Amino acid sequence: MGFDVMGHEPKTEKGEYFRNNVWWWRPLWGYVAKHCQDILTEKQIKGGCFNDGILIPGRKARAIGLRLRFLIDQKEVKKFENEYKKALDAIPDETCDLCYGTGRRDDEHVKGECNGCEGKGKKRPWSCSYPFNEENVREFADFAIESGGFRIC
Ligand SMILES: [Zn+2]
Repeated sequence: MGFDVMGHEPKTEKGEYFRNNVWWWRPLWGYVAKHCQDILTEKQIKGGCFNDGILIPGRKARAIGLRLRFLIDQKEVKKFENEYKKALDAIPDETCDLCYGTGRRDDEHVKGECNGCEGKGKKRPWSCSYPFNEENVREFADFAIESGGFRIC
């Protein structure tokens, strides 16, 4: 599952299309929501969490892009990226729910080493699968500025 963000009236090729899979999109949009509360309505912020085609109009898309670029220039995005990674690293492994921590399965699907944890019995929690980095924010900022508005589908 992914989030396709389509430029409404793209000014350049960069503004035509932006795609993140769900893992990348959630933290990115969370960051946008946090820092663009004065630009977006609550409905627009919520709409970004679902791919139901909400339209962010051109002026707002541009304002979001400029705000993100400003935060990048201020090194705020990089700082957040580092804190975010640290917070994820601090989350302990959890017991694998496919093998109940035994590292082995003996069921209708798998017999032998557990494929959920490669036999370790432990795995990283789901919340650690949501990456965030400055580069992704920069790509989205470039897209937003050139998009002439965008639709999240
Ligand atoms: Zn397992």
